[in-house]
Amino acid sequence: MGAVPARRRRPAGAAVTTLGIDLGATHVRAGLVDRDGRLSDVTRQVLPPGPAARLDAVRAVLAHYPEPAAVGLAVAGTVRDGVLTWSANLGLSDVDFAAELGRPVAVINDARAAGLAEARFGAGAGAATVLLVTVGTGLGGALVTGGRPHEGTGHAGEVGHLVLDAGGPPCRCGSRGCWEQLAGGVALNRTGAGLGPDGGGTPGAARLAATAAAGQPRAVAALARHAREFARGLDSLCAVLAPHTVVLGGGLVARSGPIREAYLAAARTLRWHTGPVRPARLGDDAGVIGAALAANLS
Ligand SMILES: [Zn+2]
Repeated sequence: MGAVPARRRRPAGAAVTTLGIDLGATHVRAGLVDRDGRLSDVTRQVLPPGPAARLDAVRAVLAHYPEPAAVGLAVAGTVRDGVLTWSANLGLSDVDFAAELGRPVAVINDARAAGLAEARFGAGAGAATVLLVTVGTGLGGALVTGGRPHEGTGHAGEVGHLVLDAGGPPCRCGSRGCWEQLAGGVALNRTGAGLGPDGGGTPGAARLAATAAAGQPRAVAALARHAREFARGLDSLCAVLAPHTVVLGGGLVARSGPIREAYLAAARTLRWHTGPVRPARLGDDAGVIGAALAANLS
């Protein structure tokens, strides 16, 4: 997994910290997290190809950090009772990390980790119930109540597959008209790609954002349409879940610009949620911090 710095010894008298590891689709990121959510000694490595190499990458991360008090691992996949049951991104299924790594490891889905971190130390701090919705290629999410993320049977938070239009575009899950097909990055990419001549490889969502920022009427109207679909799905979720605070995260909201502005503005017009709607605060650190928090849930 590339160059991982040599193992370090904890300095005498240093605070006891938890190791958080965020195993994403392309990178593994890790760091020590103290009780106030502060990160230190952050490492980030590109994942080598192949499922087995992903486990080796986690072993290498563990070898880098000197005897942390506890270890939490956030993974991009379905987690049930501490076992990664399935991850399309990582090509892994039925992995018991604690058994594989030979030490106690708290395993948590990456969106739930981000929700937990935002609820404790980020944009949802202080709220009893926090709904995080991430806007990336798809739409993901997590519900955190009383400081604990809802896991259910493992796939809780798959908000992107809320069906809003039974005759809509086909989705990777096998349904049609899922929320993410109408308002996720996949939808923005599709719309952006249809805006005029080839953009020279620029992702459709970025083209849509650029043309909307330039005031092109078609782009402005299309973005408004996606934002309305986003609000429609979010309103349905809020009707069911009644969160105190809604946090919007994910790459397409993290960057300032017309997509972030349109989605945040739309999310502040809901009928079923009159509480705060805030952009996520912790960015790429949320997964690592949330993984560490998961290791300390009693
Ligand atoms: Zn779907």
